[in-house]
Amino acid sequence: MKRKFFRTRIALLIIPLGVIATQFGFTLRAVSTAVPLRPETRAAVMQLDDPYADFRHARYSNNGLLNEPDEIKLGTQLHREVTKRFRLTDVGLPRVQSLGQRCARASLRPNLPYKFHVVESREINGFSLPGGHVYVTTALLRLANDNELASVLAHEIGHIVARHSLKTLRQKQQYNEIAKSIGEVTGVAGDLGRDLGVALGQIVSEGLLTIHTRDEEREADFLGVRGMARAGFEPQAMITMFQKLERIEQQDSSLLGSLFSDHPDVDERIANTRYEIARMRRG
Ligand SMILES: [Zn+2]
Repeated sequence: MKRKFFRTRIALLIIPLGVIATQFGFTLRAVSTAVPLRPETRAAVMQLDDPYADFRHARYSNNGLLNEPDEIKLGTQLHREVTKRFRLTDVGLPRVQSLGQRCARASLRPNLPYKFHVVESREINGFSLPGGHVYVTTALLRLANDNELASVLAHEIGHIVARHSLKTLRQKQQYNEIAKSIGEVTGVAGDLGRDLGVALGQIVSEGLLTIHTRDEEREADFLGVRGMARAGFEPQAMITMFQKLERIEQQDSSLLGSLFSDHPDVDERIANTRYEIARMRRG
C-alpha cells in the first residue's frame, strides 16, 4: 500500500517535470524568433539549433585541389579500376540514370559530366568517386523506392559537390605524384604510366576515397536533402530510407556497406533530416 502510494507520488513528480521541460523548450524557441535579440546572440541561438550551420554558407570550388579537367580524368581512371574489381550490370541502370541525372542537374555542381553505375552485390551500398562517378548496388535498388533511391544518389552527389574525395586524396603521401601524372595524361581516357595505374588500383581496392568523416557525411546529407527537394523528389524519403537501413542493421548488419557503417548515428541523421525538412517548409 505504502509502496503504491510512493509510486504514484513519483509519477506525479515526473509528469510536471516533463511539462516544464516541454514549456521551457517552447519558450527558448519563441524567444529566438519573436524577441529582437542582438545579432550575435541570435546567431548563437540559431547555431545551437542548427546541425548544418557549418555548411549553410559554404562555397564550393576546386581551388587548392585538382582542377576540374584533371578531376574528370582521375575519375575516368579510377572508374577503370572499379570495373576490374566489381561486377557492373545494366540491370536497373536506366532507372538510376534518370533519377541520378535529375538530382545532379539540381545540385550545386550541375555541369559535371555525371556517370551512374550499378554494382552487382548483396550488400546495400552506394559510393562515389571524383569527376562525377556514382555507384549503387543491386541490393539497394531492390530495397529503395524511387524517392528513397534519389535520396541516396543526392547524398553521393553531395560528396562530389563538396569534393570530399579530392580532399582525402590531397592528404595522401603520393598526392603530388598522382596530381602531376594525371596532369600529363592527354585526353580524358588517355593512357597512364604503369606506376600511376598501380597506385590508383590500390586506392580503389582500399576504398580510401569512399571513406568519409562524420562531418563529411553530415555535409553530404545536408546537400542531399536540399538537392533532392530542388529536383522535385519527396525529401521525407531520406528519412524512410534511413529507417529501412536501420531495420536491416537490426536483422543482418553484414548486408550494410560503407553507406551505413562509419556514418553518423542513424537516429541523429533522421533528426537532422527532419530539422532540415521543417526548415525548407518554412521557406
Ligand atoms: Zn556518404
